Amino acid sequence: MSEKIAIIGGGIAGLTAGYLLHDLHDVTLFEKDDRLGGNVYTLDTKTGEEIDISVFFWSPLLYPNFNKLLKKLGIKLSTWPMEGLSQSFHNMISKRNYYLNCDVKKPKDTFSKKNMKSSMHQMLVFWNYFKLLRMLKKNQLEELTFGEALKFCPALKGDLLKLAIFPVCTMTSMLWDELMESPATFAVAKIEKQIGSPLKFASWRLYPCKTRVYIDKMADKFREKIRLESSIKTVVRNGHSVALTMEDGREEIFDKVIFACPADTALGLLSDPSNEEVRLMSPWRYNDGLVFVHTDKSHYPPEDLWGMYSYLYTDEDGKINTSINAHYRFQNGVPDDSEYIGCQHPNIGIDPDKIEFQKVFRTPVFDIKSCATIRELPSLNGQNNTYYCGSHIGYGLHEDAITSAIHVGRQLGAVWA
Ligand SMILES: Cc1cc2nc3c(=O)[nH]c(=O)nc-3n(C[C@H](O)[C@H](O)[C@H](O)COP(=O)(O)OP(=O)(O)OC[C@H]3O[C@@H](n4cnc5c(N)ncnc54)[C@H](O)[C@@H]3O)c2cc1C
Repeated sequence: MSEKIAIIGGGIAGLTAGYLLHDLHDVTLFEKDDRLGGNVYTLDTKTGEEIDISVFFWSPLLYPNFNKLLKKLGIKLSTWPMEGLSQSFHNMISKRNYYLNCDVKKPKDTFSKKNMKSSMHQMLVFWNYFKLLRMLKKNQLEELTFGEALKFCPALKGDLLKLAIFPVCTMTSMLWDELMESPATFAVAKIEKQIGSPLKFASWRLYPCKTRVYIDKMADKFREKIRLESSIKTVVRNGHSVALTMEDGREEIFDKVIFACPADTALGLLSDPSNEEVRLMSPWRYNDGLVFVHTDKSHYPPEDLWGMYSYLYTDEDGKINTSINAHYRFQNGVPDDSEYIGCQHPNIGIDPDKIEFQKVFRTPVFDIKSCATIRELPSLNGQNNTYYCGSHIGYGLHEDAITSAIHVGRQLGAVWA
């Protein structure tokens, strides 16, 4: 039976739910921004470049549902593997530079970089990742924070510890201190999610197109049912139906609601959360992570020392602070001489005249309390005509957002084959 379903949130989770359900039900998707995509963003620069600011590569091995979705959308998948997930590290106080190439199948370039200490460090970082992975498989990380688990890796200290951990900050969009307090089981499983295991390395691939292409293709299937600049203010359930109140006070009635927005937002919208909803959603905190796209190179080392990601960091009295910087020249369609740099969690004084774009991206913090809810969150689905999806129901990845939306879609009759 076709039902009237509201989806709150037009990120990849909400779009996947809408894409799967629009044929079966009368679906309306509400997005508070004036654009779709949520944390997926393609920027049109003043110079005419199209730059993906986030989520610009994926692994067919680790993102099977996303891979399938791209195929279903008719997006050609054959594209070049990334030229190694190279990362450079710049200690802004000691001025030491390091270079790691996380694509272990292509280590040669790594060692040709000038002024960089790398090969031994690279081996040590991977060796310790795999040591932690072995401990994970033997259930030896239970009850430990990531910071506590790292004590089993005494070789990781000083700058070397940063070389091992900053990439995990990038993978999780979490800050150093947050990561140290996260459950070791989460952080180490996340490392495995991103790099694979000693027997099965993940091969990362660049998108064949800009991220907005797949966002648009999904939205095109039900564009007339998508409402932008529609921030939902409250959700009231009465057992038979769900009433959504818009910013202007208007109310609309639906049979069911799918929350595809952050968990703290969802909980805040509910006028009558159940005890279970409070228990499972109140532990979630989010980071408001600022990202600049700019052309101010004055704080950066010479270009031949940059990695795909470059970390500019300080360690003062144990207070560790890094910005995560990306250049975009490796992306399909971006010129080799592109001047743009993306800077997440800026810790350098960027010339305001050289900032072309800035945006706050909200990402979940995976701490001991929130991680403890992840397995149970899907049990809320179907209760009181309410469903939940989003990347927090997993490891914060695109694949998790899509998989959780497929789960909801299936519960509402969609087929994903
Ligand atoms: C800089 C950056 C880089 C990233 N890179 C990667 C990567 O390479 N690979 C990867 O797998 N993941 C990456 N991620 C993680 C990314 O967040 C997830 O992959 C995924 O895109 C999250 O999707 P989502 O739909 O769960 O949430 P979101 O994208 O956050 O979407 C939620 C949507 O809900 C809307 N919303 C909120 N409140 C309301 C309301 N009241 N009413 C209506 N709408 C509302 C928001 O505006 C938003 O559009 C990255 C994240 C960031 C910030």
